[in-house]
Amino acid sequence: MTYVFNPVPQPTLPVKGTDKLFPIHRIYCVGRNYAEHTKEMGGDTKDPPFFFQKNPDNIVTDGKFPYPPATKDVHFEIEMVVALKSGGTNIKAADAMKHVFGYAVGIDMTRRDLQAEAKKLQRPWEVGKAFEHSAPCTALVPAQHVESPAKGAIWLEVNGVRKQTGDLSQMIWDVPHQIEFLSGLFALEAGDLIFTGTPSGVGATKKGDKLKGHVDGIGDLEVTVT
Ligand code: MN
Repeated sequence: MTYVFNPVPQPTLPVKGTDKLFPIHRIYCVGRNYAEHTKEMGGDTKDPPFFFQKNPDNIVTDGKFPYPPATKDVHFEIEMVVALKSGGTNIKAADAMKHVFGYAVGIDMTRRDLQAEAKKLQRPWEVGKAFEHSAPCTALVPAQHVESPAKGAIWLEVNGVRKQTGDLSQMIWDVPHQIEFLSGLFALEAGDLIFTGTPSGVGATKKGDKLKGHVDGIGDLEVTVT
């Protein structure tokens, strides 16, 4: 059997320090995983975090973010990204970290006006979250090279001005508990990415902006809005 047409290329992330590519399966994203961001979005910090998805081919690694259509309010959300090398269902938090391949720095680009409308109308979030180029990301750093994925500064600057600042230790749900929770809902697979939530300070971006995101021990992500 052959395909009726050529399939689109497999989305991938480069692996830092190697000539290998990490094949992306799914992208899960945590909403409201830092208390100060939950407050700025008008949420109750006692509500548990929740998940949504982006599309695997929303990942971009070329340092460019073309301003998307149908919006006047695109927001940046700096996030640590976790990449899985194996998966399963009903994974316990205590066993979760053995499934982690590595980490990256990513931005969960959001059409905030479309997301706000979807929230108001109780519609799904895809139009606000899962559009083309909506997930700029660095190469993956293998886990053995990352000393402390549970703590360390995470920040984002726009044109050299610091907008978001936080610490990975401020996550409401840490990475092992995110994997435990997700694996109770879905069959996790090698190739899955998890965007682990953003600290406070999210805001709008415009054409020409230079974004620089950072996570201690993982690296820097530089993106120009084109
Ligand atoms: Mn986010």
